Amino acid sequence: MLEFVVQQAFPFSQLQDICCFKPEPTYVNDYGLFDEVVMWYGVNDQLAIYGLTYNFLPSWWRQNYGLTFGERIVFDPDYRLKSYRFMERTVHERFPVLHIGSPNPPTRGILPDFGNTITAAAAGCEVIYPIDNYPWNHHLPAERIHSLHVPVDISQTFPYSEIKSQVEYLRSKLGLDFPVAFNSRGVLNDAMLIGGVDFFTQLAEKDPHAVKLVEYSYGMLHSVIQYNYHRWQYKERTFLTNCAVMMVSPTMYQHQFLTYDQAVERLLAGYGTSFGLHHCGGFERYAPMYRQLNRLDWIEIGWGSDLRLALELFPEATVQLILSAVFVANARRGEVRTKIMEILDSSRSGWHRLCLSMPDVEYGTPDENLEEIYWCCKEAQ
Ligand SMILES: [Zn+2]
Repeated sequence: MLEFVVQQAFPFSQLQDICCFKPEPTYVNDYGLFDEVVMWYGVNDQLAIYGLTYNFLPSWWRQNYGLTFGERIVFDPDYRLKSYRFMERTVHERFPVLHIGSPNPPTRGILPDFGNTITAAAAGCEVIYPIDNYPWNHHLPAERIHSLHVPVDISQTFPYSEIKSQVEYLRSKLGLDFPVAFNSRGVLNDAMLIGGVDFFTQLAEKDPHAVKLVEYSYGMLHSVIQYNYHRWQYKERTFLTNCAVMMVSPTMYQHQFLTYDQAVERLLAGYGTSFGLHHCGGFERYAPMYRQLNRLDWIEIGWGSDLRLALELFPEATVQLILSAVFVANARRGEVRTKIMEILDSSRSGWHRLCLSMPDVEYGTPDENLEEIYWCCKEAQ
């Protein structure tokens, strides 16, 4: 979990563990897509704030209900649809207070979820599919990094080819006309997931391996965005995933990565696509750099970040604060209330564009604590 990673030495081999939350189209969009193994529902019409969302880790599902994730949920679209319907019904029954899920989930196209590994898989990294967690990947051997290249047509390259083929199957089977839009990622995230422990050392030394990895990761991101737009006229909100930015200094981010993020922003702006940024670490030190982006429609910031600063600095954006799964799992109900009310007090003038996200709910988290968040957001005045 993030809270441990920030305070302890960073386990490079387990970047996947720092942020299980994946801010790609987890919402149900205009196409009826619903491509996450999590639950994601805004209940804004009943709350003082704009939105409140929950998701539950595969391990929560596995230990509570015996649900199996692993390769099957990624590669078997029929099993995936069945599992998602089960999950939607289950959370609806278990948490009637929260108004999430559905007693009779509508038919939707659900894309296979390679999670954080999607670009690494395309680079040739070995992917592991645990039965109780999101996929994770081994790093690419150094000798293979120099030969990485961005394919001319990403839709012909695994795992994009697999996603495309499954979506075509589902479009035909369900009679739904939804696009094959691939998930966007982040440049530093992907470079690190592919390069592993050596990447940062090489980056500091401007080693050609690190330079190559950064260029490859940006090239893939650029290709994904181009493909989504040119092939499908896809204009749904596209996210930049910057979990790993907190591993470099703000100065290093400014000098070595901001230009890539600015290029992504310009590309999306040219397409008329909404732009979102996910930064699950502490936000303040990087805020001045992010403010150099022209426009952010949506920004997500980590637990403990200065919410008021984010709301003030990005008046054009919806701001989403990530709640700590560790805190909510271990606190008493009254402590949850106190903390959520503190958060709401600090952001009072921005409630109309404030979302709270309760991601990565782990097995053993008290249901009443999850419900307390909802009550706070409903009762706040
Ligand atoms: Zn993250």
